[in-house]
Amino acid sequence: MSTVSAGRSAELFHEACLLIPGGVNSPVRAFRAVGGTPIFFERAEGAHLFDVDGKSYIDYVSSWGAIILGHADRRIHEAITQAALSGTSFGAPHEGEVRLAREVTRRMPGVERVRFVNSGTEAALAVLRVARAATGREKIIKFEGNYHGAVDALLAKAGSGVATFGLPDSAGVPPEAAAATLIARYNDAGHVQELLKANKGEVAAIIVEPVSGNMGLIPPDPGFLDALRHLADLHHVLLIVDEVMTGFRVSAGGACALYSLKPDLVMMGKVIGGGLPVGAYGGRQDLMDVVAPVGPVYQAGTLSGNPLAMAAGFAALSALDDGSYERLEGLGARLQAGLEEVILEVGIAAQVQRVGSMISVFIATEPVRDFASAQESDKAFFSKVFHAMLTRGVYLPPSALEAWFLNLAHTEAEIDRTVEAFAASLGEVMA
Ligand SMILES: *Cc1c(COP(=O)(O)O)cnc(C)c1O
Repeated sequence: MSTVSAGRSAELFHEACLLIPGGVNSPVRAFRAVGGTPIFFERAEGAHLFDVDGKSYIDYVSSWGAIILGHADRRIHEAITQAALSGTSFGAPHEGEVRLAREVTRRMPGVERVRFVNSGTEAALAVLRVARAATGREKIIKFEGNYHGAVDALLAKAGSGVATFGLPDSAGVPPEAAAATLIARYNDAGHVQELLKANKGEVAAIIVEPVSGNMGLIPPDPGFLDALRHLADLHHVLLIVDEVMTGFRVSAGGACALYSLKPDLVMMGKVIGGGLPVGAYGGRQDLMDVVAPVGPVYQAGTLSGNPLAMAAGFAALSALDDGSYERLEGLGARLQAGLEEVILEVGIAAQVQRVGSMISVFIATEPVRDFASAQESDKAFFSKVFHAMLTRGVYLPPSALEAWFLNLAHTEAEIDRTVEAFAASLGEVMA
């Protein structure tokens, strides 16, 4: 497989592998799914990444969705700098936490109380504890191919990072940690109903990615989310909506606002930190009141609510208005239309799937609706397209099973250049 990064990236990767497992601090970055050597970056600005060998790329990873304004946005930069001048951590309450909490509760439907943590993974850990404590039940229904962070109980059939490596489960997870996790097919409410009936009175919560973004981009079928809400009510089970990817991205109020879905508990991350490490969980007041110091569920963090992180998150959310989401939708639609035109011209069987600024291309004959159909897509072909795009200065997520993310710094001209690169890449791969 061709490797673009023969120079400094390759040197750094070699050294990194001697110091860090696989040379990376998060597995999908290692390019194992697409082959070749990962690229080391020096700098990012707007919609572009600049590697250590002096090459630039149009970026469609956007830090896995965390970057929405564009890289190195001045407003975020100023907020962080200003905060840093007043101290990097207090380990005590400060106004920045209240300001961000106000913005989050105002935007996200059903979030009456919010607790900040440092990652989506941490939010998942906490939210499960809350759901189990509030219901007095242990079992959790999760969907095949949905990812909720590297949490023991949820690393069953967990999508991209895990699925990419062909590990249905992670080693090192005690069987009892995942034993209470029931797996349902995505977009199949009937399967959820079966599981609820078979485990009557034992299920604490259903946890779902409202738009699935960790097995490529799979939108919810019409009625799927409503059916989950209905089933949760019927069986007195909590509905946990994982908005780590979709929150503040698919709309100001995330997927819950977009699909008029009423959650009991919500997980947040990525955009909420403006590129700094932030996660959050929240929901109905009566449920959140089980959390210490109000209630008996212990959850804590030395750096939770960190002043720099809160300032960055506040700056990001403050910069997003209705026009931002219209713009993201317009850019997404332009990219989708361009890619679909190329696909039609070339005559390849591929599906462009999109919700707002989240998009992916599956090499498949039918629309992809669940993990099984995502797995059946031609991942080897995607890997070739990935490298062909890379050569042409377009950085896609290094896996067929990841969503591409637009941000507000992408321009129409860059979208069009991307579509041209896609046409040339398909031509090269099919030659
Ligand atoms: C990224 C992600 C997580 C995990 O968040 P981290 O900050 O990486 O721990 C959880 N859920 C979803 C839907 C995600 O996309």
